[in-house]
Amino acid sequence: MAPIRYFCCYVPPELIRACGADAEFFSPVSGDTQEADSLLPVPFCPFSRSLLHELIIRRNDENMSLFALSCDASRRTWEAACRLFKGSSFFALSVPFDSTERGVQRFAGELRRLSHELLSCSGGKEKYLEKRLAEEIHSSLEKKKKVTEQFLSGLLPGAALLDGNSAGVHPAAEKRNTSVLLTASHVLIRPVISFLESRGVTVFEDSPLGSRRKIFPYLSQPLSADPFLALAHLYLTGRAPCFRAGLEQRGSFLLKLVTWLKVGGVVALVPKFCDNALYEVAMMQRFLPVPLLVLEHEAAHDIPAQWKTRLDAFCETLELPE
Ligand code: SF4
Repeated sequence: MAPIRYFCCYVPPELIRACGADAEFFSPVSGDTQEADSLLPVPFCPFSRSLLHELIIRRNDENMSLFALSCDASRRTWEAACRLFKGSSFFALSVPFDSTERGVQRFAGELRRLSHELLSCSGGKEKYLEKRLAEEIHSSLEKKKKVTEQFLSGLLPGAALLDGNSAGVHPAAEKRNTSVLLTASHVLIRPVISFLESRGVTVFEDSPLGSRRKIFPYLSQPLSADPFLALAHLYLTGRAPCFRAGLEQRGSFLLKLVTWLKVGGVVALVPKFCDNALYEVAMMQRFLPVPLLVLEHEAAHDIPAQWKTRLDAFCETLELPE
């Protein structure tokens, strides 16, 4: 079975692997959107436009794609992709808007439904699925705990968690320079980290490319014996929250990061036309105890020249850790 691409931190790769496929986290890097511009409304989420553009460019590769229907933009992008690639394999996962017990139950049901679709493509056996899924969860849980502990202790700065790379453990003693938290959607994370690091700033990212998929600060024990319920719990309530979790949960998580990582400021990369991101900016402006720099962006592959000046000026205002 061809690898399954997914784009969202609510998608559990454990389920894809248990169904007999490889899971590939995919994020567009070119920043181009022209193939998608006539297919989506204007204005529209820059991440969704560049994602659809890259799916069109890669239409002939064999990978299948899994969309999490987690916001209006991702739902409309999925609809456009289905219309465009008739007969292609696109899977969709609905993500409940609440993380109560009822939301967890509903999400577990969605994961079960998705597993049937994945198995019918892979030819895998339903009979062994629960056992395989339980094993996948078990083997990823220890890693999740370790990475979470290291990240919250300040040992995984920069690109340490992006994509598959989590090998960059830095000795805590090195973190004596200015440090910032970079909170972002999928776009421009790497170039901003590289730029800030070139200025001697330590960066911790809060993004779907890295920490939001790999950090699980709210793990509850013991997990349910039903592996679908356990997985729904893990990804709906245990993971580092993103926009969808709501302002209260995001606010308390960001505060936790700022305090635990002892960062001197927060840089927020805000996708244009994303209401979720704009609500979050308003929340951060009210509650963050450290300076905040907000940079709004379109789809792009490199940072605009004026951002460099603004980032430099911002970093000069930050205090060194005590
Ligand atoms: S950036 Fe905003 S609108 Fe776009 S996919 Fe993410 S949450 Fe949805």
